[in-house]
Amino acid sequence: MAKKIVMAKPEAAITEEQAEVEALFNSIGDGAITTDKFGRITRINPMAQRILGYDEAELVGEWFPKKIVALKADDTPANLIDRPITKAFLTGHSISDKMYYRRKNGQTVPVYVSVSPILIDDKPYGAIEVFRDITLEEEVDRMKSEFISLASHQLRTPLSAIKTYSHMLADGYMGDVTDAQKKSLRTIIGATNRMNELISTLLNITRIESGTIAVTPKNLHIDKVVEDVIKEISLMAAEKSITLSFSAKGTTSRAVKTDQLILKEVVTNLITNAIKYTPEGGTVKVSVKAQVSDVLIKVSDSGWGIPAHEQEQIFTKFFRAQNIVKRETTGTGLGLYLVKGLIDALGGEIWFKSSEDKGTSFYITLPRRQTTKTMGNK
Ligand code: ADP
Repeated sequence: MAKKIVMAKPEAAITEEQAEVEALFNSIGDGAITTDKFGRITRINPMAQRILGYDEAELVGEWFPKKIVALKADDTPANLIDRPITKAFLTGHSISDKMYYRRKNGQTVPVYVSVSPILIDDKPYGAIEVFRDITLEEEVDRMKSEFISLASHQLRTPLSAIKTYSHMLADGYMGDVTDAQKKSLRTIIGATNRMNELISTLLNITRIESGTIAVTPKNLHIDKVVEDVIKEISLMAAEKSITLSFSAKGTTSRAVKTDQLILKEVVTNLITNAIKYTPEGGTVKVSVKAQVSDVLIKVSDSGWGIPAHEQEQIFTKFFRAQNIVKRETTGTGLGLYLVKGLIDALGGEIWFKSSEDKGTSFYITLPRRQTTKTMGNK
């Protein structure tokens, strides 16, 4: 948690000091605005004036949240309670967030805001907000996402040709093939499948990071979605002689309104991991249960587990635990990072419990109703 700013008590005859503070405040390279304890603007530096398009006289004395209009990504006004300035006043802590401000001329500008309460002798005196224009960063992010998206789509086309012709060769459409040739073709097909999955993961991560993932909720029965995934993955389990089972608990309806594709992607990732990180002959159990306002999905395995000291990092991009890296060389460490982002997009929660060499259980809860939304930036 960032430290609160505690200003020295004002003393008489500090004009030189005041002038110094004034000069310092005015030369801050980011926008800076101070308020009194009621949220009325007391100072605004030249950079803030430039970003917002107002001059000092138009802002000083005005109530900050009213005069400086903050917008959400969908261009609707941000709730007062969600604004960093309100949160900083309410909590007494520094609060940072990304948002959009409306300029005097009506244009919108993306900003990164940081507000700190000012306390004198531990009593609220006001707040200082520092913010910077992040238009350029947003543009770079957008271009980066566009590039990944374009590159991934371009990779898919030749891959699907490789896959189709490998299948045709393996199935004997172009003449007899020996067992050794079939084996090689199966390896090629397996590799193209993995590459396809990787491309999908990259595309999904780009969508999440750029805030452009679209969530389309539909009425679904959770049992059906999970059972479908299990059917698709059962061969993978069978190849490792792993018992993959499904159970539905309770009599309450397990109907949910959520995005089917996203949910399938999440469940597939968790079950695939459970199989991948469980030794031959182990078990993977999947269960679903209706709760008061949400539905719980649990994926438990009797596998190698996640070492306690690495558990904190499990949802981090590219992270793979040490006990796994030495056993399973294939993997990117992107799956759970993606799953976490997808679950956030569905308004759900994810957590896990794990014991090394005993097994792991991943839990997801999903709200029964998910409203349509496209997350994030504009
Ligand atoms: P990947 O599987 O490609 O390595 P993930 O992001 O899906 O990437 O998983 C990250 C890491 O989390 C894995 O490398 C592994 O160390 C650990 N992990 C995930 N699921 C399990 C599980 N069911 N059992 C043990 N470890 C797991």
